[in-house]
Amino acid sequence: MKNQPEKKYVVVVQCHIVKERCSGCLCEFAFNNRTGGFTDYPKDQNLRFLTLTCGGCCGRAVHRKLSHFIKQVKAKENLKKEDVVVHLSSCISKDNYHGPPCPHINYLKTMICDKLGLDLKEGTKVSDTSEKLQKEGKYNEAENPKRN
Ligand code: SF4
Ligand code: SF4
Repeated sequence: MKNQPEKKYVVVVQCHIVKERCSGCLCEFAFNNRTGGFTDYPKDQNLRFLTLTCGGCCGRAVHRKLSHFIKQVKAKENLKKEDVVVHLSSCISKDNYHGPPCPHINYLKTMICDKLGLDLKEGTKVSDTSEKLQKEGKYNEAENPKRN
């Protein structure tokens, strides 16, 4: 995987069902402020940002959507797969108040990583409470994966 600073495009895949109610703006806020799942990217790094949904269960549309994206950014922006990093939104990858992680998460990962060859990270928006506990050194996600 390319170092985070070398990435040029962040694509967030969000849960299609959750997005029937959610605008997804908290994912964008987290990206813009480089909080939650985006703390590894320097704020002054010139990064493009795109969100898309999985298209609904079982998430198969992710392959079509990301294939289209890869072709278009190569043709029009001269960007390669290595320039792109995909994030699974917290509502897909973390146990949260919307529900447990996506039941098809391994299928999504297989398509994104194995079939499309894209780099993948998990998590986007992290709740203010978890963020505060992390800053205070009181919360380790590995030990407490139930909060996003
Ligand atoms: S992580 Fe939160 S803000 Fe982002 S799409 Fe899911 S529910 Fe919406
Ligand atoms: S496949 Fe997962 S992420 Fe997509 S709509 Fe179903 S539960 Fe949500």
